[in-house]
This record gives sequence, C-alpha cells and structure tokens, in this order.
Amino acid sequence: MNRNTDFIPFALPCLGPREEEAVLRVLRSGWITTGAETRSFEEEFARFVGVPHALAVNSATAGLHLALEALGVGPGDLVVTTPYTFTATAEVVRYLGADPLFVDIGPDSFSLDPRGVEKTLRDPELGPRVKAVLPVHVAGEVRGMEEILASCARRGIPVVEDAAHSFPSRTALGFAGALGRIGVYSFYATKTITTAEGGMVVTADREAAARMSRMRLHGIDREVWDRYTARDASWRYEVVAPGFKYNLTDIASAIGRVQLSRADEFLARRREIARTYREAFARRDYLIPPEDSRGHAWHLFPLQIDETKLTLDRDEFIRRLGRKGIGVSVHFIPLHLHPYWRDRYGLRPGDFPEALKKYSRVISLPIYPSLTEDQVGRVIQAVLEVGDGGAGA
Ligand SMILES: *Cc1c(COP(=O)(O)O)cnc(C)c1O
Repeated sequence: MNRNTDFIPFALPCLGPREEEAVLRVLRSGWITTGAETRSFEEEFARFVGVPHALAVNSATAGLHLALEALGVGPGDLVVTTPYTFTATAEVVRYLGADPLFVDIGPDSFSLDPRGVEKTLRDPELGPRVKAVLPVHVAGEVRGMEEILASCARRGIPVVEDAAHSFPSRTALGFAGALGRIGVYSFYATKTITTAEGGMVVTADREAAARMSRMRLHGIDREVWDRYTARDASWRYEVVAPGFKYNLTDIASAIGRVQLSRADEFLARRREIARTYREAFARRDYLIPPEDSRGHAWHLFPLQIDETKLTLDRDEFIRRLGRKGIGVSVHFIPLHLHPYWRDRYGLRPGDFPEALKKYSRVISLPIYPSLTEDQVGRVIQAVLEVGDGGAGA
C-alpha cells in the first residue's frame, strides 16, 4: 500500500515492549488487582509531581467525584467550572446532588476566565453557595491560575484542577494538577500517558487524601493489600462509609509506571510536533495556531480557523481533511450545547460567547509521539491545501 494514502489517526497510544513485559510480569505474579504495583505507581507519580499524596483510580471521572466528595460538596452547593470541557468535569458535580455554575472561557484562551470567576464569587447570592472552583487546563495549557487561586484563597474556597489534559505541565507555579487543593489526571487511551483506563488524584491535604483513599474502595478503612499481607487478623476490616469501587488494577498500574518513565520523552516529541505545526501555520492569516506558553503539555493541538477569511466553515474543513486521510477531532462541543446541560439549566448558545466562538472555529490535529516527520508533513500539507482552497472570502 502506498504510505501516502494511509489514514493518519487522530490519536494513538504509545505502547512498546516495556509495557508488554510489565503486563506479563503482573499477569504471572498471582496478584492482578490493586496491590504492590499500584503502590509503586502512586509513589513514583507523587515524586514526579512533587506532592505528598497520590491515589490511583480507575478514571479521572472517578477521581473528580472523589475529590468533590472529600471536600463535602452536596445538595444545594455550586461548583464553578467551564462549559469548555468534557462532560465528566460537570457530571461529577451532579453525582453529589450539587450544580455546576458555568463561567465562560477567556477571550484569548480555552481556559476559565479568571475575571468571570472573581465576578461570580463576588456575587452576593451565588458566591456564598460556591463550594469549589474546578478549572480545566484545556489541551495541556495552564492559563489564569494565579488569579483564580488568589480569588479562591481570599474566600477559603478550594480549587480542584481537572488536569486530564495537562500531564506533565511544568508552570512557574509548579506542576499543573498540584496547584490547587486537589488535582486529577486521566490515563484514558488518548491522553498523554495511558493505562487504557485510569487516573491519579494528587493532594497535599492529608485529611482529603485519607477520605478519598477510603471512598475509592467501598469506604473500607484498610486497603485490600494491607488485609492480605498483614500477618495478624488479615480477614478483619471495617466499613465506615458507603464508598465507591474506583481502585486501579495492578495490570493497569504496571503500564502506568512504564508510561510515567517515558513522560518527558513523549512530551519532548509532542513539543517538537507543535513547533513544526506552529511554524508552518504562521504564514496563513486564516489560521490561528495555539500559543507556545510555558509548561504546555501539548496533549492537543487546537488549531482555530478564522471563518471570516474563508469560504468554507469548520465542518467542511474537517470533511475535506478527512478525504485527505487526516483524522482530527473537536475539543470541545461546549456543555451548554448538549441537551442535558442545556435543558437542565435553560442555557442558550449565546450564554457563553467565547466558548461558542472557539467551538465553531477549532480543529484538533494529530499530536502524539509516534507521529513520523512524514506524517506531520502530510497533516501540514493537507491543512494548507484545504485552507488555501477556501481562502479569499
Ligand atoms: C478525558 C477527560 C476527562 C475524563 O477522564 P477519564 O479518565 O476518561 O474519566 C475529564 N476531563 C477532561 C477535560 C477530559 O478530557
């Protein structure tokens, strides 16, 4: 088959012989669910990010749920978050009977607008009901966190970071995910490192860590591994709360440990691809590439097209890229356009104008370590051909 006609998928996990060997080692060990491997993964992750507590969970969604539960979010409470995210960010608020309070993203970023957050917290009716602020580092870019942390610190409101896109993202303040009270990473198959399904919760708050540790496994006061390895009374345990089943298996953790050891190598390659894309797209006035900010994890490369300078819209742009064998995606369809969120809160498209505008313009291009130079070149060529073909509106 002619390589040039091969389809380039939007995302691919980067898994090799080391991950395969690690999985086999666990499969043959006699212990396949949460145990020593997961402990090691947690310790290594905590050391990497520089936080005292890291708890492995079976998804970031589970981690976000645990985080808000540990902070006491419940019925009647509000959690300030962005409509420019995946539904998981807001659905966990509903799990607890609380409501998300959406604040628009900033005019020149994909992240929560810190001024909007401050304004909401200052509101005499809404402000006092806000139990947490939940920003998302979309694409792996960290923006406005100093201001958001300051707004929240003034009022003693905890910040929970949805860091699903932002591992590893080293900012001037520290690692994304380690900036607020609790941070949550995702190891879903498309994310920067993967365990197929999985996540990690990090915090410096000992009490929250203890609560989340219990709640991730049925509200039991000792972890399964302790029970099976303790010499005395290994059968004894106590249930202290109606917990969840959110633990990560040792099979997944074995993959995670190898992926973690490769995280910086992966990042270096994604950064290189981002630089190549940015240089290639800088010469077209109808393209708005993402900025190269410090600490960008480059989980995504969200390219905006300026539809006022084109005769084709974003959807048609994507169709034409598809015909050229380029797999792309859109991050995100804002939550207020989805029936559940729209109808529950009576939201209209124009309620979050920046989210709507970014959504109508954005295309996520392939960006993952195994993309070859040749493939990067083909993506660039396809974007420029489609764009130039529709330029001059
Ligand atoms: C992927 C993702 C999640 C959910 O991660 P899971 O590990 O699949 O639960 C949450 N928030 C954002 C922004 C995501 O992209």
